[in-house]
Amino acid sequence: MQRTLSIVKPDGVNKNLIGEVIKRFENAGLKVVALKMAHLAKKQAEGFYAVHRQRPFFDSLTTFMCSGPIVPMVLEGKDAIKKVRDIMGATNPKDAAPGTIRKDFADSIESNIVHGSDAPDTAAFEIGYFFNATEILR
Ligand code: ADP
Ligand code: MG
Repeated sequence: MQRTLSIVKPDGVNKNLIGEVIKRFENAGLKVVALKMAHLAKKQAEGFYAVHRQRPFFDSLTTFMCSGPIVPMVLEGKDAIKKVRDIMGATNPKDAAPGTIRKDFADSIESNIVHGSDAPDTAAFEIGYFFNATEILR
């Protein structure tokens, strides 16, 4: 069993895709074990994406991530990290495989609907960024 963090980003919430994203994860056998709605301040978005602080898109990305409410969630299942990444599709929707969330719904490489942790260490950091132990089912 593995846990990962996913987020429906502001564009996904704005497009009424919260249920669609969760449905795709659940259909793949993943369990939602924590879920909330949040509206990040700029500093909170910067903290979440700290690994990208040297990238040219950092300011734009963190401004986008606090432009509206988001829905962070913890998903649990076998190979949860890879499953979520496969369901999301490539970062740039132009490169995303047919049937992935980003191919079906994303407008751009930045406004790409959904986040998913990319490795066990980042998953642990990202889950802890949004949820404390009492907020995650056990
Ligand atoms: P992923 O979300 O697929 O793991 P990254 O970790 O590389 O992608 O980037 C984090 C987020 O930053 C992306 O999901 C996207 O919203 C944004 N982003 C990535 N690359 C670019 C880019 N070249 N221009 C603008 N935004 C970008
Ligand atoms: Mg990433």
